[in-house]
Amino acid sequence: MFDDLRDLYQEVILDHGRKPRNFRRLEEADLSARGDNPMCGDRMELFLNMEGDRIADAAFQGRGCAISMASASLMTETVKGKTAEEARWLAAHFRELAMTGSCPDCGGRMEDEMDRLQALSGVYEFPSRVKCATLAWHTLNTALDGGKEASSE
Ligand code: ZN
Repeated sequence: MFDDLRDLYQEVILDHGRKPRNFRRLEEADLSARGDNPMCGDRMELFLNMEGDRIADAAFQGRGCAISMASASLMTETVKGKTAEEARWLAAHFRELAMTGSCPDCGGRMEDEMDRLQALSGVYEFPSRVKCATLAWHTLNTALDGGKEASSE
């Protein structure tokens, strides 16, 4: 198991897992939601500040495996400045990337962002870790919907 996972732990995951970006609480967050992946024990709380329909700031706190923390770190970096629609689009296509290892439906939209998220695409080979990678994005969708609790589905 450990040897297999090593391929997955690319530098980006290790870097973001050790030093998560945007790892803080937004005290006056416009939107927030908790995410829980009991399969692995990953838990997080996501905070969003909105300016109209645009995500002005995104931050999270939580604890979990390196993949869940790295994914949340990358997610908050990626959605900052995006509209809610763009963020939902990224969530849907990140999910496809995590489940299949590629995203033929992305069609070149937000290419730079999808390239960056590619760092986590290796999880598709490890079905039990897919939920670790997608938890942050489920939590994002839940927060954008005005919900409070996201499960790893
Ligand atoms: Zn995990």
